[in-house]
Amino acid sequence: MRSWLRATAADVLDRCTSCGKCFETCPMTPYGASLPGADSTQVVGGILDLLRGKAGNTEALDWVKVCSHSGRCAAVCPEGIDAMVMVRVAHMAACGSIDGPTQINGREDTQFFRRINAFARLQMTDAEIAAWHD
Ligand code: SF4
Repeated sequence: MRSWLRATAADVLDRCTSCGKCFETCPMTPYGASLPGADSTQVVGGILDLLRGKAGNTEALDWVKVCSHSGRCAAVCPEGIDAMVMVRVAHMAACGSIDGPTQINGREDTQFFRRINAFARLQMTDAEIAAWHD
């Protein structure tokens, strides 16, 4: 799984121009404390930092927390990037699930990680879980 996440992050870093269109079309921006009126290129810059395994800015951290997977961002990217996946992977990076530091509490993710871990524990052996994480 981590190798897929690293490859996805590398692909986004290769193609994203930081135009900000994905952020501008996001319906969730009113719900992040620092997001109303934020500079879209700066927000995306913070997302790319997260994908590099570095600290993301406040706006990027707020964006990954409020993402509702609407998918509107993916439809507008001129580079053909699935920005919804980009934000999702950045969220995992911010939770410390890839290579970089933990920057948000995993408990703030109410939709994904805890449920996946719970189901994995029910259905996979320790060896299978270790292989899956790699
Ligand atoms: S719309 Fe695409 S190219 Fe523009 S910032 Fe978002 S992911 Fe990057």
